[in-house]
Amino acid sequence: NDLFQPERANSQGIDLDHEPSLRDILLRRDTFADTTWNAAPILAGDATPEASRPVENPFAPDKSPGDVSPASRSDVDVALSAATPWNATAADRACILAKAADLYEANTAEIFALLAREAGKTLPDAVAELREAVDFLRFYGANAPDQPPVGRFVCISPWNFPLAIFTGQIAAALAAGNTVLAKPAEQTPLIAAFAVRLLHEAGVPVSALQLLPGDGGIGAALTGDPRTNGVAFTGSTQTAKKIRSSMAETGTPDAPFIAETGGLNAMIVDSTALPEQAVQAIMESAFQSAGQRCSALRCLYVQEDIASSFMELLKGAMDTYRASDPWDAATDLGPVIDADARQSIADHIERAKEKGRVLHEGKAPLAGYFIAPTLISIDGIQYLEREIFGPVLHVATYRAGQIDHVIDAINATGYGLTFGLQTRIDDRVQHVTERLHAGNIYVNRNQIGAIVGSQPFGGEGLSGTGPKAGGSQYLQRFIRRPAEASAE
Ligand code: GLU
Repeated sequence: NDLFQPERANSQGIDLDHEPSLRDILLRRDTFADTTWNAAPILAGDATPEASRPVENPFAPDKSPGDVSPASRSDVDVALSAATPWNATAADRACILAKAADLYEANTAEIFALLAREAGKTLPDAVAELREAVDFLRFYGANAPDQPPVGRFVCISPWNFPLAIFTGQIAAALAAGNTVLAKPAEQTPLIAAFAVRLLHEAGVPVSALQLLPGDGGIGAALTGDPRTNGVAFTGSTQTAKKIRSSMAETGTPDAPFIAETGGLNAMIVDSTALPEQAVQAIMESAFQSAGQRCSALRCLYVQEDIASSFMELLKGAMDTYRASDPWDAATDLGPVIDADARQSIADHIERAKEKGRVLHEGKAPLAGYFIAPTLISIDGIQYLEREIFGPVLHVATYRAGQIDHVIDAINATGYGLTFGLQTRIDDRVQHVTERLHAGNIYVNRNQIGAIVGSQPFGGEGLSGTGPKAGGSQYLQRFIRRPAEASAE
């Protein structure tokens, strides 16, 4: 467990008043309001992509931000054949990644527009995401190892951090000298193509970084090919298992496989917790990014003695949560990623309603793929069948003296990504954090927004393979193990 307390690390709370670039961005917002972008395979050979299709805009489904021409199966073959080792020293790679970080920062306004229009990001989320992407480039670049790389690395990234996680995987693989085949999430190819162009502009050769936008079939073709030497994946536990077994079938069972997957994350609020602090932490953890973080809080346990007054405070906070224009810095809630996501979350809420379990619903606009922040009562985390990837918080109560049962139930889910604890009892912090299995434990603060370099992020059990992203061990999986290197 890595333990984060306010006095030991900052939270990622973005102070928009002190974000230097923000004024400029807001002044330039109209420039990119109607821009359209496009994405297609970027290969070190000739591409023959599939027919293009419009990309969705979660805030405004009738205003597509552009088109994507997905990679074809033959593009996968072209990319794997054209991927050649990157003959640059560790120092050169560090320099190029630092230059890419500068280019990201120089393109802040356009990146924010892409994040808002393609991924439904609010301004505070876009600011945090760009910073994280830049941090990954600088952090992995600065730690670029001078050892033999693994070879061809396939990086498969999710739509919820279409810039930060996309960039983080690529930056790590490149920092270690690998050649990268990047497969961005199907929903977010435009920001990926924009980022890859910046990385090329910074000096990464096309043969060392190729882009293959497409669906899961393209990812499977890449990971199932014996020419692939390593895979970095962030997404569902189910897909991670499939990749693992296809790597075993194609005879690359020992190839590095780094998976960061889902979580059923909990928080415990005891009767000594500071109520306002706990409510704030819950609002951010459960509803920021519309709950579309694998770190997000899914199941809250409140000590029975304080539950009724505490729940009133929480409902009050939910009523002040604002959803509006992505360019309004006061917007709290953005949409979920697409119509399918909205439908499946809405179905979950509907079933809870039929059982009389919906405790409270906030507000959300009708246009766009919005889901209002929703509170659902549950008897315990064991009744939560799956990760609901949206702004839905399940709440259970527990009796004083029963905290160990709660911890055991949380551990029994098999996941172990984030966990939050709100208490003023020091012994309890020690007891709970020793017993609970989670990669990132946060005490008396929110449980999202890990910071590159100071808060390595990653889970245990069903939540991932490790090593943690943004941590000192991460790059070790991108270089050849000593035995492999000396066998050469
Ligand atoms: N690193 C992010 C956080 O700490 C979550 C990443 C994810 O959702 O995959 O909130």
